[in-house]
Amino acid sequence: MDTLKSGAAKLGINLTTEQIRTFETYFNELTEWNQKVNLTAITELGEVRDKHFLDSLTAAAAFDFHGNPSVIDVGTGAGFPGIPLKIAFPGMKLTLLEATGKKVSFLLNIVAELGLSGVEIVDGRAEEIAHNPRYREKYDVVLSRAVAGLPSLVELTLPFCSIGGFVIAFKKGDITGEIVQSENASSLMGGMAKEIIMVNRELFDDERCLVVIEKILPTPPQYPRRPGMPEKRPL
Ligand code: SAH
Repeated sequence: MDTLKSGAAKLGINLTTEQIRTFETYFNELTEWNQKVNLTAITELGEVRDKHFLDSLTAAAAFDFHGNPSVIDVGTGAGFPGIPLKIAFPGMKLTLLEATGKKVSFLLNIVAELGLSGVEIVDGRAEEIAHNPRYREKYDVVLSRAVAGLPSLVELTLPFCSIGGFVIAFKKGDITGEIVQSENASSLMGGMAKEIIMVNRELFDDERCLVVIEKILPTPPQYPRRPGMPEKRPL
């Protein structure tokens, strides 16, 4: 876990001994639950540390989380990237959105186990939850990792974003095609491509990047379309 501490430091995050201990508990619970519930393909300590924990923290290169922002993680699975960021930046107000019930059970358990406060867990699909006024256009930052291609992902994420807020999508490899294909959907949702941040090569040498989209206009009420449509027929 020293590697997590030094990796996080490269992102400007200084993890305390207590925070490192919280990550250890997270690892233990994740691997224990994973024997019964399919949460992650990665179970070895070094890999979970790098590919789940540290990778999640790279969002700090795209946004300053110190200002206690409201954040939603769309399709969080076993809590990535939302929970590691919440451990590192305890002041953030976090919503974890996940459509698979057994993963939601794990999230309820882990958030209690880690003693995290200011976390709301929502069991549902982005296409439906984004129409609920409690969640629509309410977030400074919308995070999403490994959920969908960018053209569909913008429809699943931008509706949650408040005007002036950002979507941060975790991506890998050459994403120029995906970006071009997402431009139409993005502008329909009120988004505008802001930047692509390459993740520090000292941390990951496989061309990880963060695609940042700014919300500049309200999302028209018809979006997102009904469940499945954003993926089936990207705009
Ligand atoms: N973000 C996590 C999980 C990725 S797997 C990680 O990077 O490890 C994708 C997850 O998104 C799955 O758990 C799936 O149930 C969830 N998901 C996919 N489409 C969704 C949708 N439309 N609304 C909510 N969750 C969704």
